[in-house]
Amino acid sequence: MLRVARAIFTEFRSPKTVHERKGIAAAVGFGLLALALDQLCDHFKRTGQKPQEALSDGAAHIATAVAVAMPATPFVRDKRRFVVTAALSAVAIDLDHVIAARSTHLIPCMTMPQRPASHSVVTVGVVSYLAERMLPGTQTDLGLVLGLGSHLLRDLATGGAPLFIPKRIVAITRPPVATMMVTLGFFGRWYARHMLNPQRRRRSNQTVLAPEALLVGSRVLRARRLPTSSTARRPWAA
Ligand SMILES: [Zn+2]
Repeated sequence: MLRVARAIFTEFRSPKTVHERKGIAAAVGFGLLALALDQLCDHFKRTGQKPQEALSDGAAHIATAVAVAMPATPFVRDKRRFVVTAALSAVAIDLDHVIAARSTHLIPCMTMPQRPASHSVVTVGVVSYLAERMLPGTQTDLGLVLGLGSHLLRDLATGGAPLFIPKRIVAITRPPVATMMVTLGFFGRWYARHMLNPQRRRRSNQTVLAPEALLVGSRVLRARRLPTSSTARRPWAA
């Protein structure tokens, strides 16, 4: 953990080329835009202008996701696809309001007592895992992690979200969320630079190893419980 924190700090301090600096400059620009849109959203919320609030909220989520994705762009293969993935996923996650409220109308979706259970780290894990399995080596998974992650972080500062357990709302004030957002952006940059480096033998997202390790582990345990006769099937050989 300390190594990751140190590596992220080093990324922050050492943009080596003009190209790499551009990613950070764009991130700062989109970050300021996100702050302005966030303030606008707050204003519409206070004055009860729901359609304008929804629009500015969506725009703030997109600007935040682009700001968080930008630092990684110098190190991904298809920059446009990467940023579009992050931006789209940052608004698409709110479609779960439509399912939870069982309505496509704005007011029921915006006045739910709390955000749906799918506003969770489990969603980020499942979606990025599926993306890595279906589109390996395209960095789509990292774009999704940054887009969905930025959305959930912003939601923590605007009413909270059931981040870990359904019905248990996690809410955090804006200043620590802004720090987490910057950390997420530089984590994405560090990850894209080092873990997706073409020189590495394994370029896949390392997070796919976690569920696979669980799967293999459970098969090994099951196999140990089975009789060791030659007729016993080896479950992992299926
Ligand atoms: Zn949301």
